[in-house]
Amino acid sequence: MPPVIVWFENDLRKSDHAALQAAADSGQPVIPFFAWNGGEGWADGSASRWWLHHSLAAHAEALQAAGLQLVIRQGDPADEVVRLACETGAEAVYWQERPEPHRARRDDEIQRRLEEKDIDVRRFAGALLHNPDAIQTGSGGPYKVFTPFYKKFLAEGTPVDEPSGTPRFSDVQATPDVSGTPLEALELLPKIDWAGGIDAAWNPGERSARGKLSQLDMSDYADERDIPSIDGTSQLSPHLHFGEISIRQAWHASSDEDFRRELVWRDFAHHVLHHFPHTVTEPLREEFEAFPWREDSQALQAWQQGRTGYPMVDAGMRQLWETGWMHNRVRMIVASFLTKHLLLSWRHGQAWFNDTLVDADLANNTFGWQWAGGCGADAQPFFRIFNPITQGDKFDPDGAYVRKWVPELKDVPDKHLFEPWDTDVVPEQYPAPIVEHKEARERALEAYQKLKN
Ligand code: FAD
Repeated sequence: MPPVIVWFENDLRKSDHAALQAAADSGQPVIPFFAWNGGEGWADGSASRWWLHHSLAAHAEALQAAGLQLVIRQGDPADEVVRLACETGAEAVYWQERPEPHRARRDDEIQRRLEEKDIDVRRFAGALLHNPDAIQTGSGGPYKVFTPFYKKFLAEGTPVDEPSGTPRFSDVQATPDVSGTPLEALELLPKIDWAGGIDAAWNPGERSARGKLSQLDMSDYADERDIPSIDGTSQLSPHLHFGEISIRQAWHASSDEDFRRELVWRDFAHHVLHHFPHTVTEPLREEFEAFPWREDSQALQAWQQGRTGYPMVDAGMRQLWETGWMHNRVRMIVASFLTKHLLLSWRHGQAWFNDTLVDADLANNTFGWQWAGGCGADAQPFFRIFNPITQGDKFDPDGAYVRKWVPELKDVPDKHLFEPWDTDVVPEQYPAPIVEHKEARERALEAYQKLKN
């Protein structure tokens, strides 16, 4: 019997996976397949590669338990999937739709090449709650503001379909002998081991993601989601990015409205990227192309290393470096600080996050940075500038977050914690602020005024 290939990318799971289910239903032998050439366009960053390695290992193991063998190859996925299909005489190739526009275009081309060779292609939705085209304005266009998108989503996009189960395979469907590359050959893990903190913080793979999902309790989400010192959010983002759980599984794991609303933000970020693919590199609000961003490698480095002298910013940047993840409230604070206090382009932040986040996601990251930098969809107006001192008072009132990530400040009393510079308890190794808050704010407002003029 000719086999069916299931081509995996960011959908490294077995359950609620329409392509794998269709392959199981075919009754034919199944070749699960993954190809990698270092990523294309926006290559996966270093932290994402660490995740990908472990996620692929977990996926291969889970497939093996079902009698299937994950075939991994090194090379351009577009060429590799066509080559494998020809080499194995496959009857069909199935895969899940990828929401990023550059991948969707590439997939159209692959489909054309396969169909030219009389190989069937089936592509299945499932990466988003709804396809990025599904929610449209009254005149049939895209949304640029979240609230109306959300209203339309609630009116037309709910209820969200229930997720499906895990397919079963009969003995005759076992993967035929096909050559592949060992996972290690992809060299996804860092050569110098800087990933110890990430390793301690995370457990990639479907099994662990589903374990997390089964214990998900978002009943205090609205009250706790803005307090970075507690685990008040789901921390599902890397699992969702790599498709270890499906978005429908996340949706149905909690009926909390505020939590589900965040999942719709994810759809919205993909909707924006789908309709405005140029926003990966260019601001959605065109006037921002002329914004007078500064270049200052020292300031950028201080921000990256968590040495700005602003405890809330430094805590966030150190949490990111250590664990590959940062709390959303703090992402907003550090992003505002980079683009407004330091007047460095959002592109610098986007690139750094892309390299260091385990959940780095083209749509969410681009969206988040343009939002913070005042130049994207539903953006914070540029003149609304987060005060890194009062944000600390408000969202880390007992200082637990800052004291955890900036331990040299642990003895600074609460009332000075977010502006510790003039106290005599601040240790020498903690840097003086690299910009003065009021002056930096004025400078940002002047730059914005220039743009408006
Ligand atoms: P929860 O609060 O539990 O939310 C559940 C899920 O909803 C998240 O896992 C995520 O998939 C989605 N979600 C939540 N908030 C947002 C949002 N604002 N936009 C889009 N989706 C959202 N998120 C990423 O997944 N990858 C990124 O690369 C990324 N970069 C960001 C950059 C900046 C500058 C900012 C301000 C935000 C960014 N976010 C990104 C959004 C958000 O910070 C993370 O999704 C969230 O912190 C992940 O933690 P969680 O899973 O505990 O979230």
